[in-house]
Amino acid sequence: MQVNIGEIKDTKGGEIRFRLVEDWSKLYIDGQSVHCVSPVVFSGRVTATGEVFLVRGTVATDIETTCARCLSPVRVSIKADVDERFRMASHAGGAGSAGDREDEDDEWREEDVREFRGLTIQLDDVVLENLLVSLPIKALCREGCRGLCPQCGQDLNAGECGCIVSDINPRMAKLAQLLNGRE
Ligand SMILES: [Zn+2]
Ligand SMILES: [Zn+2]
Repeated sequence: MQVNIGEIKDTKGGEIRFRLVEDWSKLYIDGQSVHCVSPVVFSGRVTATGEVFLVRGTVATDIETTCARCLSPVRVSIKADVDERFRMASHAGGAGSAGDREDEDDEWREEDVREFRGLTIQLDDVVLENLLVSLPIKALCREGCRGLCPQCGQDLNAGECGCIVSDINPRMAKLAQLLNGRE
């Protein structure tokens, strides 16, 4: 995903509205069972402030992940607000002078301003980062999903397995003993 800022590059206050739609279904995120099952839609605008380009908008897609309790696939709609700043990389960035220039530039180089080259701002990274932070920590296939039996692994939504599972955790059991002892 990208947006070309050619028209507003020299116009302070200039704005470009965009709506980008891309199929990210082939994207698999390392170590996470997350899969985009509908196109990623990013609608927003770029505003030239004279110093930076503000990119603001909303990203939405549907992802498929697994239920935190029973591990069955769950589809979740996610939406993330994007609010990022970009600036053009300076042309005078020769490899030799980079070290000397760094100190002068420090004030300018706020941590949260990203650089881009040419007239095109690449948005994939910010879109991905913002989507990732919006993922549900625990997705459930349904409210009150009963999960898997800790003993035999049966999906308890499908029916009882007949195992006898004690839910009392050892610390609570000790507390119960103490309380009983007082009586
Ligand atoms: Zn479930
Ligand atoms: Zn069981």
